[in-house]
Amino acid sequence: MQRVDEADALQSVRCPECLSEIRRVRASFICTECDLSYPEFKGKPVLIKQDNPLFQTGDYGSIESGPVRVVAGRSSPLGLIKKWAPSMSKNIAHPRALHRFAESLEGDRPSILVVGGGQQAKELQATLESYSGKLTFCDIDKTAVVDVFCDAHCLPFATGSFDGVITTAVLEHVLYPDACAAEMVRVLRIGGAVYSELPFLQAVHEGAYDYTRFTMSGHRRLFEDFEETGAGTVGGPGTALVWSLVGFARSFFKSPRYSTLAALAARYLFGWLRHFDSALDRNPRSLDFASCTYFIGRKAGKKTTAEQIVERYGDSSFKHT
Ligand SMILES: [Zn+2]
Repeated sequence: MQRVDEADALQSVRCPECLSEIRRVRASFICTECDLSYPEFKGKPVLIKQDNPLFQTGDYGSIESGPVRVVAGRSSPLGLIKKWAPSMSKNIAHPRALHRFAESLEGDRPSILVVGGGQQAKELQATLESYSGKLTFCDIDKTAVVDVFCDAHCLPFATGSFDGVITTAVLEHVLYPDACAAEMVRVLRIGGAVYSELPFLQAVHEGAYDYTRFTMSGHRRLFEDFEETGAGTVGGPGTALVWSLVGFARSFFKSPRYSTLAALAARYLFGWLRHFDSALDRNPRSLDFASCTYFIGRKAGKKTTAEQIVERYGDSSFKHT
């Protein structure tokens, strides 16, 4: 899959207020219907509604040199300790689950919207390299690699305009996950597919912008407008345990420096526990203790009932691994 070019991206975007087409006028994007003007940031349109409670288009006005990160030099002892620290997570779903999603897409050259793409553009393109299609990346984060800056609560795209939506570890960071899921349903055409990853037993990350966690059943309920074609573990109980132990170690210290050192120590001591996840995945009930789960579904035009979701919990044969 390739990333969309600028012309394709501009053709697909719509005014977030009235969903009408948008044209570029020098460094602005103007709605052809309501005449509202939206700025560009890093050459990409910033299509955010005026009544957004947290983000305003004005925040994107100034070009910045990028996020300022205070990190230890790579060759310093602390830098090397950080660089070689064992990972806290093991992802047992990639690339298998993403390939399953890609195979479920209809059409010769499907169009995929990546909601909350963050820094994933390169990695996703590489994972889905062997499939045809085009990827559009959007995110509200100024530092993200995107084709459009926007809010997942109000996707600036026409109804039924995509064949697939990918959203990985995004909906725990939004105020109203149901509203965002409804937007994903709206921009997908009937038969379109969704791939979602959501954390369950995972500590707060991204600070103030972290609101919600989901069980596998909660994940299914959130995407009740989709017929399930796959579901399972991304990070299992081993990953959940490493995160907990790192959090436990950090909780002893107020100072960011000592907290970081405690986290590093815990990662070196306990990071190996994440390797149990592949073996534990053979037990369907290990999903109850997972760090993160995935859901793949097809927009079928009818809702999955609460009764079906409850039945699905006990149906281990429906765990696609
Ligand atoms: Zn408009």
